[in-house]
Amino acid sequence: MPLEQLIRTSEPAPELNFDYDITIVGAGIAGTTLAAGLKNSGLKVALIEAQPQTVAASRQQVYAITLLSGKIFQGLGIWDKIRANITAFSQINLSDTGTEGVVFNPSDLGKDELGYAGEHCAILPVLQEFLNDCPNVTWLCPAELVSVDYQSDFVEIEVKVAGDGDSENAQPASNQRIRTRLLVAADGTRSRIRNDAGIRTHGWKYWQSCITTRVKPEKPHNNIAYERFWPSGPFAILPLPGNRCNIVWTAPHEEAKALLELDDEQFLAELRRKYGDQMGHLELEGKRFMFQVQLMQSNRYVQPRLALIGDAAHCCHPVGGQGLNLGIRDAAAIAQVLQDAHKNGEDIGSLPVLQRYEGWRKTENLAILGFTDILDRLFSNNWLPVVVVRRLGLWGLRKIQPVKVFALRLMTGLLGRTPQIAQRL
Ligand SMILES: Cc1cc2nc3c(=O)[nH]c(=O)nc-3n(C[C@H](O)[C@H](O)[C@H](O)COP(=O)(O)OP(=O)(O)OC[C@H]3O[C@@H](n4cnc5c(N)ncnc54)[C@H](O)[C@@H]3O)c2cc1C
Repeated sequence: MPLEQLIRTSEPAPELNFDYDITIVGAGIAGTTLAAGLKNSGLKVALIEAQPQTVAASRQQVYAITLLSGKIFQGLGIWDKIRANITAFSQINLSDTGTEGVVFNPSDLGKDELGYAGEHCAILPVLQEFLNDCPNVTWLCPAELVSVDYQSDFVEIEVKVAGDGDSENAQPASNQRIRTRLLVAADGTRSRIRNDAGIRTHGWKYWQSCITTRVKPEKPHNNIAYERFWPSGPFAILPLPGNRCNIVWTAPHEEAKALLELDDEQFLAELRRKYGDQMGHLELEGKRFMFQVQLMQSNRYVQPRLALIGDAAHCCHPVGGQGLNLGIRDAAAIAQVLQDAHKNGEDIGSLPVLQRYEGWRKTENLAILGFTDILDRLFSNNWLPVVVVRRLGLWGLRKIQPVKVFALRLMTGLLGRTPQIAQRL
């Protein structure tokens, strides 16, 4: 149905029957955080995920987690379980080659912590466990999206749900039709739902790729996070529990590809050159992965009956570790908007309601996307005027406390509008 014909008021359509009020496609951390935020909302939620829960949870990825994301998880009541298996930064150390760096301490913000580093497997299973215990949330997983049909008052989705084994009582694979008031796409950067809905994006792929891997250093990491800027790209070290560290090494594509192809000994030798000697001998822990780096912002986050959250709506350069944190914030924001609308008797799939979420999040996300882009361009550059500007910037961060506090507040999620769930402390 053409967009213009879809309903634009926020009045509910009372006579219709729905299977679910909200259907979320994609049960990564953004999608599951939204579903968790809708517990006790009185809204019936379906969560569709293509991968079995254990497979989705086993992804080998590490994230820097901001103070705000920690507060959102705290508001959901799952923070203690996550916090037990992640590391809190005692310090963040930022440096440029050949100049004095900047050290950020929790006391700069008047807080006990500056942020955290955690593995995907320390976060997603906690959210999954929480949701398995939410009576208003139904998992359809593993399940494949077959089609989506937008109508003025509802969306009809066809889903192919996988069978559950070959025992006698096993259910065979089946196609289900679901009628929902609102569809939420949390299906990642290459969102099929966004593309099929004709929502365009703008942005670019960087000239760099990222290599990530984990190492075990000989000396204690002391919970210090490092971001070192090299002309080839930023190089980050995130401290993990068990005195392990996650490396995020950004380099031009060809160099990154070559790093991926080195054998372990050669790779370790290159790593030591970047890393320095401060942590002694390094041992590799597990595989190396390579990621394309891109910046993307969707032209719209919403249209009638559809909202995009997380990487389906935007993604950014990994410098500063912001991408997932923006998705967690989207999830908390839209959960709040939808619950408020539901309480007020409004139609949660209507454009006026969804635009409250877009108005809240799109500009805030753009600010962070821009900030990470400037950081990468400013530091991955040896042109003298740019070098002068960035040295001035580092000097400002070192010497002018309000500048330092502003940068820290931006990167820890403490600037911008705080979702109510993060204030429930
Ligand atoms: C090298 C690198 C380092 C990074 N470091 C950080 C960091 O330190 N901190 C940070 O905050 N962010 C970081 N990010 C960004 C972060 O990884 C992403 O922002 C985050 O994973 C996005 O989460 P999401 O839930 O939106 O999407 P995803 O994690 O992509 O989840 C999407 C889910 O949808 C499912 N799905 C997809 N299509 C369908 C379908 N048709 N039907 C059903 N299910 C579907 C997928 O199986 C998946 O489970 C980094 C990224 C990279 C590349």
